[in-house]
Amino acid sequence: MSTTRQSSEEMLQALRSQIPSEPDNGQPHTLWTIENSEELYRIHGWGDPYFSINAAGHVMVAPRGDRGGSLDLHDLVTALQQRNLGLPILIRFSDILEDRIERLNACFAKAIARYSYSGVYRGVFPVKCNQQRHLVEDLVRFGQPHQFGLEAGSKPELLIALATLDNPGALLICNGYKDLEYVETAMLSQRLGHTPIIVLEQLDEVPLVIEASRRLKIRPILGVRAKLTSKGIGRWGGSAGDRAKFGLAIPEILSAVEQLKAADMLDCLQLLHFHIGSQISAISVIKDALREACQIYVELSELGAKMGYLDVGGGLGIDYDGSKTNFYASKNYSIQNYANDVVAEVQEACSARNLPVPTLISESGRAIASHQSVLVFDVLGTSDRPGLDPIDPPTADAHALLRELYDTYTNVTVQNYQEVYHDAVQFKDEAISLFNFGYLSLTERAKVERLYWACCRRILELLRHEDYVPDDLEDLEKSLASIYYINLSVFQSMPDAWAIDQLFPIMPIHRLDEEPTNRVTLADLTCDSDGKIEKFIDLRDVKSVLELHPLKDQEPYYLGLFLGGAYQEIMGNLHNLFGDTNTVHIHMTPKGYHIEHVVKGDTMTEVLSYVQYDSEDLIENIRRRSEHALQDGKITIQEAQLLLQHYEHSLNHYTYLSTD
Ligand SMILES: *Cc1c(COP(=O)(O)O)cnc(C)c1O
Repeated sequence: MSTTRQSSEEMLQALRSQIPSEPDNGQPHTLWTIENSEELYRIHGWGDPYFSINAAGHVMVAPRGDRGGSLDLHDLVTALQQRNLGLPILIRFSDILEDRIERLNACFAKAIARYSYSGVYRGVFPVKCNQQRHLVEDLVRFGQPHQFGLEAGSKPELLIALATLDNPGALLICNGYKDLEYVETAMLSQRLGHTPIIVLEQLDEVPLVIEASRRLKIRPILGVRAKLTSKGIGRWGGSAGDRAKFGLAIPEILSAVEQLKAADMLDCLQLLHFHIGSQISAISVIKDALREACQIYVELSELGAKMGYLDVGGGLGIDYDGSKTNFYASKNYSIQNYANDVVAEVQEACSARNLPVPTLISESGRAIASHQSVLVFDVLGTSDRPGLDPIDPPTADAHALLRELYDTYTNVTVQNYQEVYHDAVQFKDEAISLFNFGYLSLTERAKVERLYWACCRRILELLRHEDYVPDDLEDLEKSLASIYYINLSVFQSMPDAWAIDQLFPIMPIHRLDEEPTNRVTLADLTCDSDGKIEKFIDLRDVKSVLELHPLKDQEPYYLGLFLGGAYQEIMGNLHNLFGDTNTVHIHMTPKGYHIEHVVKGDTMTEVLSYVQYDSEDLIENIRRRSEHALQDGKITIQEAQLLLQHYEHSLNHYTYLSTD
């Protein structure tokens, strides 16, 4: 036991030094631990059980979840770079995909056991969520033990599903708009051992199906997609409701029933489908929809349809910000809650009418595919943070405005910061007017602007300790943030961040044992002012700046974008001709990991060919011009050679910047 007594002042001092305070002046504080990083980036909230931080301050990936085995993401990226796989790189963890399928099926199995439900669950993966061949092939393989099937929402997706699915017990749900060819292809696939269910989305499809069935002498399994009144809320709320693009309204469902009955095909109608939109954040919305759908289901049964399947569509949400709330970037329920509600609701509706319970189907895409990929990219450089330049007092003969602004700057206090802010803004506006009329020199204007930013920074430092931030000062944090330039195209790799303001967790994958003292926004490689990220996940709402580390000389800085495995890849576009990124598939083995597939990103030749340029022609053009310039003595032979070398090399390489 220690015999020395600390003075209370010393104890206080010691205590204080252990409390990590706000990174407010760009100076690293002494004690920053990986626990501080865990809390700051909320990695447990959105990343459990796959992502965490190790003692080295790197992101760790446990692709098999709780079932053991992990790897250091930073080490993996280094190893990939040694194999000449540059950044940005999309890393797919096939074990995560497998774990997601296992998890979803386990939750339904548990719910079925808990409610003694006498039916089964047969999930399907909606191909539109991620159509990449290796991923769909993995899915089918991992789904085998659970008879997990596929859902096609278009003719091309049907072609993928037909060729990839090879499990007779798995369902093939055929959604989307259909023509005769679609319908006949789906029906004929029954002869190959598939179990296609053709879901009627439009009334026009009813005669099509009747005709195809007669012609092919195949009795199909049919479903109807109901337009529910219960709606999802938020971004995809319009997927259901009276004005929804898809599905049949109640009178149309009845008309379909009559037409099928007249064609002696009512026994073919066996499935009811609904989909109220993606990323449903509130469990109450799912329950409302289920209740309505269950009633339609039992009524269809009573009308004579041989009902046996209920397809609850997609919508199972992802907790992007880890807040467990009904905020749009979160969800207030677990997969288990979801499965329990589906099973219990259907059980109750059927037993009330003494009907056998249906096989349950869900078309969860986002919930299965989001976690499996991580996009790692590097920071190319930063722009200065305004307001950090040292400020010298103005000389006695300096412009009056400059002297007054300096006085303001030296008098910022907790009591007057809002007033000081307004004064500073006014001084700056006045300075610009004076400058425009020729009464202020460029040097003087520069001094005013520097002082203005210094003032704002002082105010911001006070503000960060306040509970309440007045509206007019809310943007201060963002305007004083640095900009980090990232080797990435938002349009190619995270289109939803641009198109619909979707939030994805973004964080450094190393240096997590160091305090991130900079507050930044991100700007991408494109020449588009929308190519930026200025909204980040936060426990409450959204934050406008992300805490990152100052760059070190000669040391790359890597960021990871997580939970982007659903929808982003196919919706990504070629804005500014930035192509697909490199992709690798990582599979865990007893000895560590194995790189299963490498899919090289687009080369410039490939991207240019999408817009009809032929690289041979392009090279020939440059060669001819060089010869002319050579003849005219405007270029040396060495310069011409170097130019052509660069040109040809670029064509055969990655569209992103190379930093090594
Ligand atoms: C998009 C879609 C899905 C997938 O939705 P998630 O929210 O990603 O699970 C399922 N079914 C249909 C009909 C869809 O259009």
